[in-house]
Amino acid sequence: MHTRGFESNKGTIKGPKNMNGKYCLQPFTNIDIHSNHGARCCSESWMPSWVGDFSEQTLKQIWNAQPIRDIRQSVLDGSYSFCDWHQCPFYCNDSYYLYTEDDLLHPERLSPVHAYRLSKYAPWIRYILERKTEVDIMPANYNLAYDETCNLACPSCRNQRVMYTKGPEYTLRLSIHNKLLKEVKENGFENIGRFNVTGSGEPFVSKIFSDFLYNFDGKRFPRLDINIQSNGVLFTPQAWEKMKKIHSNINEVIVSLDAACAETYDKIRVNGSFKKLLSNIEFLAALRKQGKIRRFMLAYVVQEKNFREMTEAIRIGKHFGVDLFIFNLLNDWKSWQPTEYETNAVWKVFHPEFKEFLEILRDPLFSDPIVDLGNMTEYREKILSYEKVT
Ligand code: SF4
Ligand code: SF4
Repeated sequence: MHTRGFESNKGTIKGPKNMNGKYCLQPFTNIDIHSNHGARCCSESWMPSWVGDFSEQTLKQIWNAQPIRDIRQSVLDGSYSFCDWHQCPFYCNDSYYLYTEDDLLHPERLSPVHAYRLSKYAPWIRYILERKTEVDIMPANYNLAYDETCNLACPSCRNQRVMYTKGPEYTLRLSIHNKLLKEVKENGFENIGRFNVTGSGEPFVSKIFSDFLYNFDGKRFPRLDINIQSNGVLFTPQAWEKMKKIHSNINEVIVSLDAACAETYDKIRVNGSFKKLLSNIEFLAALRKQGKIRRFMLAYVVQEKNFREMTEAIRIGKHFGVDLFIFNLLNDWKSWQPTEYETNAVWKVFHPEFKEFLEILRDPLFSDPIVDLGNMTEYREKILSYEKVT
């Protein structure tokens, strides 16, 4: 399997940090399964390492094989040597995403979001506190990342639309899905924490994922959370209605915004519709106000075409009352040639617009409580520490 390195981080202002005594829950709680049968314990964007092969191993075998145990050890010893320290928002925004031993022992002292997260994952956190790399309960969280089917063709992600609705590619993905659900079922759906749909494509276009969202009987498993990650264009009132069997399981909804006007949106999110997106965001914001979604978040991948609209986009998020507005710096998904990627990666120090990008981050709006600077955190710290970049 191809393992992405950290080579695309050339030009970052960051470097590895002292992470001693800061604990990331991901390798102790999470598993991602991809369409090549590869397994990861973190997002593909943040940790290049594979931890297993789901065509040859069961989940149970992957979960305590040496690769994932080595990653857990790197968290326990503070080296975080497998983590992409430029891309991972947890690593970069460690005061928000990572926990001290004291936090893990006393979650009640933390904000409600963190207290909820830590109380839900208490059985898995025990292994961190006991400094064990073998976790003999199954993963808490499952990121279903094995179907790339999507209605859009964002140039940063792919060169053309990907649609698997029949034939061998579809059958392959369906077989992974069925194998995963079978194994989770054997362990008991009531013993897990969360499904994330999806880290790979669009849930409301993928036949596999939409069938799951529309037909899975979540009422039988009230403690099971389902998070939905979508480009939002097809997250309509009709789609919501079809998901009624899992309404009470819906936990977090993350929708990609990526622009503050239709003109920019059309360049970044090819085949999308800014008008439909805003209409669906308005609908989802109303569901959030009614308490039907626990957290509603917007995401924004920062690149050359949209960095000047970041503050306007935050205002859109505030207008709709979202819980969190998450920024992420453009990652290299290999859909572009390296030079084209670098033209778009405005966060690189040698990019002609780098200084302008930094200056924009000076805006006080980036201190708004809804803003999660994620892997952009250090860039804002840098500009605030300067008088003025000349
Ligand atoms: S710090 Fe990031 S890359 Fe490292 S284990 Fe945690 S989530 Fe994964
Ligand atoms: S919406 Fe997401 S999965 Fe679909 S093409 Fe764009 S970035 Fe890729």
